[in-house]
Amino acid sequence: MVSKFADVVAAAERIEGYAHRTPVLSSRIVDEVVGARVLFKCENFQRMGAFKFRGAFNAIARLSARQREAGVVAYSSGNHAQAIALAAQLLGVRATIVMPHDAPASKVAATKGYGGRIVGYDRYAEDREEIGRALAEEEGLALIPPYDHPDVLAGQGTAAKELFDEVGELDALFAPLGGGGLLSGSALAAREMSPGCRVYGVEPEAGDDGRRSLRAGEVVRIDTPRTIADGAQTTHLGEHTFEVIRREVDDVLTASDDELVEAMRLFAAHLKLVVEPTGCLGLAGARQLPGELAGERIGVLVSGGNVDLDRYAALLTS
Ligand SMILES: *Cc1c(COP(=O)(O)O)cnc(C)c1O
Repeated sequence: MVSKFADVVAAAERIEGYAHRTPVLSSRIVDEVVGARVLFKCENFQRMGAFKFRGAFNAIARLSARQREAGVVAYSSGNHAQAIALAAQLLGVRATIVMPHDAPASKVAATKGYGGRIVGYDRYAEDREEIGRALAEEEGLALIPPYDHPDVLAGQGTAAKELFDEVGELDALFAPLGGGGLLSGSALAAREMSPGCRVYGVEPEAGDDGRRSLRAGEVVRIDTPRTIADGAQTTHLGEHTFEVIRREVDDVLTASDDELVEAMRLFAAHLKLVVEPTGCLGLAGARQLPGELAGERIGVLVSGGNVDLDRYAALLTS
């Protein structure tokens, strides 16, 4: 199945009334720093604190009555876990989340708070995908992956769709890149709603598999990268996401951890926004192209704001 803009439109209708329509913010000081007019789509204000609610809700809403009856399963220690748990709760579906025994207590608590059942595993000795698949089979659960699924990527594309709906056409759009759900969905929206808009993915410098994949014309796999951008510690793009990315994305940029911290400071100081490290990728990426963006109007997707306050404080003062 080839993903199309129509899938994003259908997802937008499905999530309406459940997902927040997040604000678009800007700062003249940040405009000066970047050298362009920058419009930030603030998914740190999305339900559960990140855009992942969009794809999770769309995917669960698309299940058949029988599948909903049986329940869903996901493996994640991050935002996808909370997104699935909350979306399932809202749709009256039972959710099982496979999480490592040593997952941060705050994330386990948040997932439980949304009514999710947690199945723990040893991240050094066990394979979470295997556990997820086994649970899916034994209990008849629908497995919802974090990015490589047409309904997930269509849902993620609704953030960019809302941005274009609100601000009109743009010269360039920057999206954080992990497995590519957000970037591929955004690219579908951009191509249709702002045909001249250049679309960039931005990934951690330590894990540049997306850039290498785009250059190679096939999915390149790497080891888990060491980076503070924990939402983008992916080892490869998805099959569905890469199919869209290779067709619709202009380039993939990278940002170092230091550049992410600098972007985090700009968000805090000038936009008064708490943004998690992975959510800073878009702004850090836009700062890599100063000459090219001069005089342009650009969009930056701020993907999430879930960061432990102790860790946030430590990063800001590092
Ligand atoms: C998951 C996540 C990403 C990466 O999204 P993909 O769809 O995997 O590319 C970026 N930012 C945040 C905050 C995330 O949770």
